[in-house]
Amino acid sequence: MTHRFKSLFALGAICIALIAGCSKQQQGPAPAESVAVVEEVTAPEVAPDVEWPMYGLTPAEGRFSPLADINAGNIAKLGLAWYFDYPTARGMEATPLVIDGVIYTSGSWSMVYANDARTGELLWFFDPEVPRNWAVHGCCDVVNRGVAYDKGRLYFGTFDGRLVSLNAADGSVRWEVQTTDPERPYTITGAPRIVKDKVLIGNGGGEYGVRGYVSAYNLDDGEMAWRFYTVPGNPADGFESEALKRAAETWGGGEWWVVGGGGTVWDSMAYDPELDLLYIGVGNGAPWNRQIRSPDGGDNLFLSSIVALRPDDGSYVWHYQTTPGETWDYTATQHMILAELELGGKTRKVIMQAPKNGFFYVLDRQTGELLSAEPYATVTWATGVDMETGRPVEVEGVRYEGKPTALQLPGPIGGHNWHPMSYNPDTGLVYIPTQDTPWVYDATEEFQYRPGYWNTGTDMRAGALPDDPVLKEQILAMVKGAMVAWDPVRAEPRWRVEHTGPWNGGILSTAGNLVFQGNGSGQLVAYRADTGEQLWSFDAQTGIVAPPVTFRIDGTQYVAVVAGWGGVLALSGGESLKTGPIPNRSRLLVFKLGGKAVLPPAVDTPLVIDPPPLQAAAEQVAEGFKYYSTFCSQCHGDGAVSGGVTPDLRALTPEKHAMWDAIVLGGMHWQNGMVGFGGELTQEQADNIHHYVIERAHFTLAESAPEAVELEVEAVVEPPPAG
Ligand code: CA
Repeated sequence: MTHRFKSLFALGAICIALIAGCSKQQQGPAPAESVAVVEEVTAPEVAPDVEWPMYGLTPAEGRFSPLADINAGNIAKLGLAWYFDYPTARGMEATPLVIDGVIYTSGSWSMVYANDARTGELLWFFDPEVPRNWAVHGCCDVVNRGVAYDKGRLYFGTFDGRLVSLNAADGSVRWEVQTTDPERPYTITGAPRIVKDKVLIGNGGGEYGVRGYVSAYNLDDGEMAWRFYTVPGNPADGFESEALKRAAETWGGGEWWVVGGGGTVWDSMAYDPELDLLYIGVGNGAPWNRQIRSPDGGDNLFLSSIVALRPDDGSYVWHYQTTPGETWDYTATQHMILAELELGGKTRKVIMQAPKNGFFYVLDRQTGELLSAEPYATVTWATGVDMETGRPVEVEGVRYEGKPTALQLPGPIGGHNWHPMSYNPDTGLVYIPTQDTPWVYDATEEFQYRPGYWNTGTDMRAGALPDDPVLKEQILAMVKGAMVAWDPVRAEPRWRVEHTGPWNGGILSTAGNLVFQGNGSGQLVAYRADTGEQLWSFDAQTGIVAPPVTFRIDGTQYVAVVAGWGGVLALSGGESLKTGPIPNRSRLLVFKLGGKAVLPPAVDTPLVIDPPPLQAAAEQVAEGFKYYSTFCSQCHGDGAVSGGVTPDLRALTPEKHAMWDAIVLGGMHWQNGMVGFGGELTQEQADNIHHYVIERAHFTLAESAPEAVELEVEAVVEPPPAG
């Protein structure tokens, strides 16, 4: 090797995984804080390759690349080098891995792809054949956030709960294990992480009714090494660990284990090799509504917590609970970054997170001590975090006990969701994809547990956009999306970039003084990392939610991003998306300076809303709204307004209306992920949902043609046909 490695950053941490030729050693003793910049003693003819070997680039998950060939001075010349069309049209959330000249990505339905990083040529792809009807058990689209790599082997989770290992050379299967109970509505969307000789995988399902955990499997044979449950099971069965026994003391009065308790580890993890600590982010309660799962109150550990574990055996070390007694879907599964910060004259090893609850936390990652917690998005549910107790100071009435909350921020989508942040040690800033999506929380009148289905114990109708035009406009004015540049030392924002709407992409920052982020308006944008000034953009023809990566091969730096609109708010957001519907065009886009490739022209099909007459009473429509909110709105959108990924039910053709029962009850379209609800819904309930959808179509027409309002309202109250 002709390269000398010199750390330019505070504390001199080096991740050897990034250095050319070392990309397979990512599990080595690599201090986690930052990434070294490579400087050549003897300048080689071609700058060394710098790849992207793991999800967050390093175990510290900072997503800051030392590459600066593409920089704020020359970014105007960035152009498309090549693109690859994926064969699916659902949400794409993966972080590409780049190893030995190959890009590995995962896509919707947990498919995995290997492309030549220089040309885009598809080398192989693997379809784990996820049963399409499993989509009914997912809150948030049939997405997958990426694969993990070690020594020529890939690891990834499938939507139906399997962990699969492939040979990276050809995509052939090494082993496959079911990591979840197939009788429960578990899903996997998060990327596995590799720590030493194990691969770690969590799962999701907190909205439907599961018990959360993270599992470790041996890399070689897929044998399970350990499992850490995040919430206690039925105390009558005993506890798996002393930590869970203590956790059970914070739950009481209910049978939380029936629905599952929640606490799923569905996305974030980080690892500090020096401390040998694994950090997991834990999700919300199941049901959301604490009155149902723990009527005596309590903190309900380890919901909404960051938990530090020993990676060798999964034993508990410490935890910090961001939202004690969680009841709002305020998960702490959001991205966590390890860094070293100068705080109060001392260098502290910290872990940073912007969980859904709206506060940006800096913790000492050795002990879990709270160092700062300040709002990074609009927060109305708490006035702040008490630094003595580490607990949020709740505003009265936010627990919706007896009556609904006021319009509350954050809502269940969170001030920040799964989209990765980036910590740039050059600027000292953490770039956060944030949003304000207000919500009204209300308890269900009478909770009825429906195994396998939506079980939040809340009335989702309370959070729907109202029809009243004035109120609706006021709420939409509160809905925002932004990239916030957060100063974690001063615990305050330095600047923000406003987006058209919420639900924008994950973030990459580089030593070229650049920040890259895709957005819900279909653009990939580069900003100056120090000021946020927009420098460059590219029309991706589809919304981007996945985070970009960058790498250098044969002396050329590339930027890659998986484009493809989708994910929870793209499906459920309706008009709150504010960007209007945007189609899913799932593509891997790869850029370089001077790139000249051009996307084919985008051809959009206009939305034609031409509903049949509404033949139902207002009560039937209201009843339909109730069931739509429980069974349909997560995928088809608030108010039956599609975000562009799933069919817009206001625009169904006469043929589709005629097939309503066959689709909704019979499951005719199960291969698209639309299962039949015949086992759950009666004919009358399905009819009423149909009436509601037709009413929404008429309402939309009336709204866009004010003179027609009176006529359409009459139609709504038309009585049902006699008999
Ligand atoms: Ca959740």
